[in-house]
Amino acid sequence: MNSFIESVNYFKGNNPEDIVKQYGTPLYVYSEEILRDRMHKVSQVITKYPYTANYSVKANTNVNILKIALEEGLNCDAMSTGEIEMLFKAGFPKERIFFIPNNVASSELKYSIEHEVMTSLDSLSQLELFGQCCNDMNVAPEKRLCAVRINPGVGAGHCEKVVTGGKKTKFGIAEEDIPEIFKITEKYNLTIAGINQHIGSGFMDGQPYLDAVTNFLEIALQFKNLKFIDFGGGYGIPYHKLDDEKDYPMEDFKKKLEPILDNFVSKYGSAPMFKSEPGRYCVAESSVILGRVHATKQNNGHLYAGTDIGMNVLVRPSMYDSWHDVEVLRGGKPVSRDNLIEQNVVGNICESGDILAKERKLPRIETGDLACILDTGAYGWSMCSTYNSRPRPAEVLICKDGTVKQIRRRETIEDLMMLF
Ligand SMILES: *Cc1c(COP(=O)(O)O)cnc(C)c1O
Repeated sequence: MNSFIESVNYFKGNNPEDIVKQYGTPLYVYSEEILRDRMHKVSQVITKYPYTANYSVKANTNVNILKIALEEGLNCDAMSTGEIEMLFKAGFPKERIFFIPNNVASSELKYSIEHEVMTSLDSLSQLELFGQCCNDMNVAPEKRLCAVRINPGVGAGHCEKVVTGGKKTKFGIAEEDIPEIFKITEKYNLTIAGINQHIGSGFMDGQPYLDAVTNFLEIALQFKNLKFIDFGGGYGIPYHKLDDEKDYPMEDFKKKLEPILDNFVSKYGSAPMFKSEPGRYCVAESSVILGRVHATKQNNGHLYAGTDIGMNVLVRPSMYDSWHDVEVLRGGKPVSRDNLIEQNVVGNICESGDILAKERKLPRIETGDLACILDTGAYGWSMCSTYNSRPRPAEVLICKDGTVKQIRRRETIEDLMMLF
């Protein structure tokens, strides 16, 4: 593919140069159309049984994006009380929030108990702490509901750092400790309303997830009267679009998932609510970053294009070695990919690891071009930092009708100074 942004008319007729003239660079630019499309798709993964897709908001907590998730009928997963507060600010009612923390202080558990947000406990000791919090707060017996996160002993993901299930990760309660769960729930008069798992992130093949669901439903049989069973997130997106990588096979996945659920429901005798927890899939493809090329150079035979998209703006390449496709825009138009040469696209942070795209075949980049980094909506802004005292970028949304709306203002040096 020569250009993804042209193939989907990403900017809806706006010239990216006009957008950055108004909002500056680096800039996160979201597409409302893609956002709503992906959120709708995940809400349809299971249609035969009661189901909710819980958008895992750590991928992107912009309140204006959360509002769109609310409109699209998604529920949400939060990993911290801060994320719960973002969800309240966006208008989510407590019933549509699921809190899945790990290793939190009693104050965070007390917050969720007080706000009646369903909470999953990630270890026996946190379950015990939750019970103690309920006692401290004199919670009525019928309100002592919670979930537990089980580590099913299997994991998968696009790189080792994102594998969250399996014998070597910090997450969840091991299957062999399930009898201990029941001892604690009895001691504190708790009811396990649901169980959840999450095996990892960014898989493009449905099979590991289907295997994990089958395995998890076997485990679920040990729990009586579950109100919900949550299979976790992890659906991947095609980060190699320009090389024609295909989408996650959602339709095929859905077809293969259904008989697995049928089999469980007939054994269990009823259908609890099924849930999944997609983060990346909902938001990744709905954003690009526009950054300016301020310098080009050749160092010992290697070509470098120096942009204002530092690792503080997008950390994934330096943190996980992640691939993000790069389009080169000149005068706001994608430069043809007919003649590609190997270049390094780097940022403006004083770190040798500040590399966005390493030894990448790209059209020859010139000073003054815009670099357009694809698929940055998930774990993009939400992982931004102010390293090198660089304020975090603004975010704008291209609405379906083509209007451009700022959905987060650019941070300023004054904002950073306010902490002193
Ligand atoms: C991060 C996370 C998710 C979302 O993962 P994606 O790969 O973005 O879909 C879901 N559940 C839990 C518990 C997580 O920590």
